[in-house]
Amino acid sequence: MSRARVILLNSAIGPLDYRVPHGLQVEPGTIVVAPLGPRQLIGAVWEPERLQTEEVGDNRLRPLIHAYDLPPLSAPLRRLIEWTADYYLAPLASVLRMALPSSGALEGARSITEYRAIGRVPERLTPQRAQALERIGDRQGLVSELAIIGGVSDGVIRGLVKAGAIEAVEVTIDDPFPEPDPAHGPPSLEPAQAEAAQELRDAVDAGEFAPYLLDGVTGSGKTEVYFEAIAETIRREEQALVLLPEIALTEPFLKRFAARFGCDPVPWHSGLRQSQRRRAWRAIASGEARVVVGARSALFLPYPKLGLIVVDEAHEASFKQEDGVQYHARDVAVMRAKLEEVPVVLASATPAIETRHMAEIGTYRTLKLPDRYGGARLPDMAALDMLKDPPPRGRWLAPALVEALEDNLAAGEQSLLFLNRRGYAPLTLCRRCGFRFQCPNCTAWMVEHRFTHRLACHHCGHVMPAPAACPECREEDSLVACGPGVERIADEVHALFPEARTSVVTSDTIWSPAKAAEFVARMEAGEIDIVIGTQLVTKGYHFPNLTLVGVVDADLGLAGGDLRAAERSFQQIRQVSGRAGRGERPGRVLVQTHDPSARVIQALVGGDAEGFYAAETDARREAAMPPFGRLAAIIVSSEDQSEANETARLIGRAAPRHDNMAVFGPAPAPLAMLRGRHRQRLLVHANRAVPIQEIIRDWLGRLQWPRGVRVTVDVDPYSFL
Ligand code: ADP
Ligand code: ZN
Repeated sequence: MSRARVILLNSAIGPLDYRVPHGLQVEPGTIVVAPLGPRQLIGAVWEPERLQTEEVGDNRLRPLIHAYDLPPLSAPLRRLIEWTADYYLAPLASVLRMALPSSGALEGARSITEYRAIGRVPERLTPQRAQALERIGDRQGLVSELAIIGGVSDGVIRGLVKAGAIEAVEVTIDDPFPEPDPAHGPPSLEPAQAEAAQELRDAVDAGEFAPYLLDGVTGSGKTEVYFEAIAETIRREEQALVLLPEIALTEPFLKRFAARFGCDPVPWHSGLRQSQRRRAWRAIASGEARVVVGARSALFLPYPKLGLIVVDEAHEASFKQEDGVQYHARDVAVMRAKLEEVPVVLASATPAIETRHMAEIGTYRTLKLPDRYGGARLPDMAALDMLKDPPPRGRWLAPALVEALEDNLAAGEQSLLFLNRRGYAPLTLCRRCGFRFQCPNCTAWMVEHRFTHRLACHHCGHVMPAPAACPECREEDSLVACGPGVERIADEVHALFPEARTSVVTSDTIWSPAKAAEFVARMEAGEIDIVIGTQLVTKGYHFPNLTLVGVVDADLGLAGGDLRAAERSFQQIRQVSGRAGRGERPGRVLVQTHDPSARVIQALVGGDAEGFYAAETDARREAAMPPFGRLAAIIVSSEDQSEANETARLIGRAAPRHDNMAVFGPAPAPLAMLRGRHRQRLLVHANRAVPIQEIIRDWLGRLQWPRGVRVTVDVDPYSFL
């Protein structure tokens, strides 16, 4: 190759051609460094026939600067990058970026200098230094990483290094990972499990594209079953990828994995340190990392010998990425499996309607695990009518739920209260003048966080100290909290049961795998009686002594009223119910609602998942909503409201006419302002057969708007805000 077409990591420019200087070996997939103006950028060589670019004569080409000594990105991965860019209307460069690591890992530097505290108190102990040392504890990382953990500037960390309280440590990034052993701790499977495991093992051996829905109630042993497929993949010396919806679930997963395979898998998520990230990327790219468990971003890594993909809790909405490239990891996982010609397993106790539909029409094969492992029964569920049997004024737990908590405490068993709302109260207002605290950047109320004495916006992160007086009328002590968050429920529990040991579990308290591990250990040691948590505790965990689940507000999820509201409520309450009674003692679930006759509540209490899904699916079919029709949202935003409105109108006026396609809007988005940007929304609704990506690309490609306006397209949207 004397000429190479390259996708550079710069989403503002398309592919460019370069001259390949003498002595440089490149082929499609090679990772290179190329000049762009005065800068040097990383990029990947691509097949010229697959990318269009302006024709430039040989004599005008600039030479490539460097080619990394790494395996080239494989053809299936290159096709996946193209497909993702195409389907989600994203720049190729943005998708490529997800496959590549920081330049440090590419260089293959053998070691990296990290720092750690050595437990010595420096002579001059400023409050900042004390805070940093306390928060850092025994953790290790780059100066910048320790600064973030310590909540101080880089300068403070460097000062501590000088003062001899923090020392440098050399970390090699090419240390091999231990090899998981498929024969380490094989389970003895129950018949239904064994049958499913055998089918998956066969699929791994066949080495063909085969999508599976592993559909089993909570506690049925789905993990045990797909572990057997992983074991087979390891035996074949191929790589397996397991996607989890939250980093918080990584820790319990690692433990179970180690029990089955004798060592940890290779984790991949945003919580990794630079050195861990580099080491993991290199081991993945070389094929040495056998089993990778990660968040959705692990999907685009360059596995040279991929043999199996598992998406656990596949129904989870958090697999949808909401910024940058707005892809759905479950759907891209299936596409990757197809391109790599390997099986993919979507595991769920409450599969998404989209997934069930694919199974129903025979595109996916279904493996069913109908019963809980070891004869454990599914918990009994009952609805508590909040109108008939309401809590006392200013309280949120109905008498029947309080009684059940009391019984459980007396019996020495653990309970879980679920409310999907962080903080103390979702709204703070002034009793005297009616003033409400709103975020200055968003169409949203400021949420009170009483533990930290602050008000916070859950959309942009804006925080302010909780004031003592109303900023409007200056009245002291006039501010009242409206509605409950988990912190307020925790207060109520303390008031009711002062002796109970509680734990609040939200992303505010469990913000790292280590914190999750700490929580799990305390639960297992019986140091917690009552957990109060958000959706973070609804899945993954297995606590045999947890026998009571109280759903504080089952109506909450239905309020938004979007396409998937009922489905999501059903899944979430089912999942959290699944935490109860997983051991020998049976579980009980009490669901607080203002509308016990609602279809979701009836289906939950009556255990009629099939009926619920059938009705929801019919409703979708009738309205031609996904999976029977297609949606794409176009969001227009700008700091300047009139610019946003005008651009949205311009886009609306230019909407192409197509049979079987309709364009709604523009209208202000429900979150009309977000992070200081005004937002307008258009919704495209089309028949399945309509190529909406092509149409939208064409449509928007012909238009121009002011520089400050951002137009993003969300294909298959999950958020309707
Ligand atoms: P799911 O993922 O379907 O909720 P899990 O795989 O977490 O279910 O299984 C629930 C519990 O039952 C776990 O503690 C698991 O270790 C145990 N379990 C399931 N199947 C077996 C088996 N065949 N042998 C031993 N333990 C099992
Ligand atoms: Zn905000």
